[in-house]
Amino acid sequence: MKREIKVGNIKIGGNNRVSIQSMTTTDTRDAKKTLEQIEKLYIAGCEIVRVAVPDEKAAYALEEICKNSPIPVVADIHFDYKLALISADMGVAKIRINPGNIGAEENVKKVADKCKEKGIPIRIGVNSGSVDKEILAKYGEVNADALVESAFKHIALLHKYDFYDICVSMKASNVSVMMKAYMKMNDMCDIPLHLGVTEAGTEYMGTIKSSAGIGGLLALGIGSTIRVSLTADPVSEIYVAKSILKAVDLNESGVNVVSCPTCGRCNINLISIASEVEKRVANINKKMTIAVMGCAVNGPGEAKEADFGLAGGTKEGLLFKKGEIIKKVPQQDLVDELLNLINSDIEE
Ligand code: SF4
Repeated sequence: MKREIKVGNIKIGGNNRVSIQSMTTTDTRDAKKTLEQIEKLYIAGCEIVRVAVPDEKAAYALEEICKNSPIPVVADIHFDYKLALISADMGVAKIRINPGNIGAEENVKKVADKCKEKGIPIRIGVNSGSVDKEILAKYGEVNADALVESAFKHIALLHKYDFYDICVSMKASNVSVMMKAYMKMNDMCDIPLHLGVTEAGTEYMGTIKSSAGIGGLLALGIGSTIRVSLTADPVSEIYVAKSILKAVDLNESGVNVVSCPTCGRCNINLISIASEVEKRVANINKKMTIAVMGCAVNGPGEAKEADFGLAGGTKEGLLFKKGEIIKKVPQQDLVDELLNLINSDIEE
């Protein structure tokens, strides 16, 4: 089991569920705009938010941001340890910094001591684009071993100063490299892992890469917290992250809609029916699976694991619950009747 760390009121590692993170795209110096974006992320389901801290003005803006944010705020810092010290004083719940990149070891000690004093963890964020030159020369390329060795180099620096309140990410844009690195790391230490595919790309391709990399690892039981990175509105990252958790059955709430690909037996417009069902169940918080199947021949049987479902026929369709047929319904009423069935079950 991984050691447990606390980021504000969110626990990472241990027996805790996988939490969802994102990062703001606003100028952190503009606290008002940053807080507006944090609010949107929070409403979408984000549990921890990271903000870039490029300079002192941004670091000082964290005071207002942390005071008013509905979720724990993480300061993202590169190279300048002083910004980490200010951010910790401004009330952040975690700092993301790579101790090997902040100069003299006394700087590492200062950051470790400050985080210890404030009771906040540090995320070591190894990235395929910034593996140090020595390690790169040793391996000749950015591979899983290079990422793992790089992570341990940073970890050793914090451990040297008795700092163990750590989580680690080893993000690469290459899904295979990233997966191998996390799998290796998972076997080698008890530090909770923050999963991500870096520079994953646009909403479409980034979703696919993140689903493959993050989802694949989660399905193997690896990973304590996740961040989907998309070249898009960060709110989309939250929707994708929530869908990945659903796909690997790690969601605590919400509906997982499964639908068949249709085949020659399908006589209804399943594509629009499935989309409508997905839209209309989006606000249901209870955890359940709903199957939307093209035909009555195989539908209920194929979707036995579903809590509820519908199966299309020629002029009518069937509603089913746990694989058992409940009733026949005219085709045009299928979605409404399915929702009635689900809602009355929730009320009960
Ligand atoms: Fe084909 Fe029916 Fe299976 Fe859908 S449920 S794929 S329509 S056999």
